[in-house]
Amino acid sequence: MFAGRIRSVFHRLPQLSPTAANPYRRADPPGSLTGMDNLHRGVVSRRTLMATMSQTELQRLVRTGALRRLRRGWYAADGAHPAVVSAVSAGGVLGCVSAPALHGVWVPTTDRVHVRAARAGGRFCRQHGRPEPERAAVDDLPTALRHAVRCLDDEGIVVVCDSLLHLKLLTPSELEFELRGATAHVRALLDRCDRAESGTETMVRLRLRRIGLRVTPQVWIDSLERVDLLVGNRLILEIDGRRYHEGPDRFEADRQRDRRAIELGYVVIRVSYRQVIHDWPSVEAAIMQVVRRRDHCGALPKHRSARRKRVERR
Ligand SMILES: [Zn+2]
Repeated sequence: MFAGRIRSVFHRLPQLSPTAANPYRRADPPGSLTGMDNLHRGVVSRRTLMATMSQTELQRLVRTGALRRLRRGWYAADGAHPAVVSAVSAGGVLGCVSAPALHGVWVPTTDRVHVRAARAGGRFCRQHGRPEPERAAVDDLPTALRHAVRCLDDEGIVVVCDSLLHLKLLTPSELEFELRGATAHVRALLDRCDRAESGTETMVRLRLRRIGLRVTPQVWIDSLERVDLLVGNRLILEIDGRRYHEGPDRFEADRQRDRRAIELGYVVIRVSYRQVIHDWPSVEAAIMQVVRRRDHCGALPKHRSARRKRVERR
C-alpha cells in the first residue's frame, strides 16, 4: 500500500529529460516544481517533499519504511539510483563527472562516484570558486561541468564538452560562460572541441592531432555517407562505439561501406571501444604504418574521386 503511495508521491514530481535538466532551457516560473529541484532519481530533499505532503505524512512514510532517511533532509524511495543514494549518503549530491552520465552524456570511465557538496571538504569534488548549495540529488549539467573540469584530464574535458555539444545540451557560448572561472588552460581546451558522436571518436581525434596528423571529423563522402574521421585525404577511421554499431543490420552495412570505400581508393581502419581505451599503442602503430607508406595522402583515383563535405557545425 505504501509502495503505491510513494510511487504517487514521486509521480507528482515531474520527471526531467536531459534537456529539461539544463537550466538554460528552463522556462519555468520561479518557485515552480519543475526544473532542477525535481531531478530526484528516487532521492529527494525534505524541502521538495514538503511541497507535496505534510510533515505528518512524511513521518508516516519514513516510519513504515516507504521512504528511507539517508541523512538530515534527504530521503530515498525503493529503487532509487544506487549512485545517487551513495552520493547523498556521503554528505553531498551526485555531481561532477558522475552527473552528466545520468543525463546521457558521454563521460570517461571513472572508478568512483563523484560527490559534490555545499561545503568544501577534502573528499568532495570542487569547482573554481566557492561551493554552491545542493539544489537536487543530481547536479544540473552546468554545475557538474564546472566541477568535472577539475577532476578530468585534458582529454576527458574535451570528451565531455564534445558530447554536450553533440547532444545539443549546451552551446559553445554556454560552455565558454560556464568555464569563465576556470584556468586559462581549461578555457583554451574549448578550441579543441569539435563534432563527435562518441567519446572514443573524440579521443582518437585528439591523440592523432597531438602527433601532428591532419584529422577531419564527420566527413560526408558520396555513396559512403558520413565517416567518423578522415586522416589526410584517404585514411578513413571508423570508431565503433558500443552504442552505435550494434546489431546484425549495422554489422552488414558497415562491411558494405568498408568495401565501397576501398573501391573508391580509401584505406579503412575500424577501431573498437576496447582498442581505444585499453590498446591504443597498437592502434596508433597501425595508423602510423599507413602514414609512413603515405597511403593516407595523395589524390584519389580521378574517376573514383568522391565529392566530400564536412558536416556543418551545429
Ligand atoms: Zn569529481
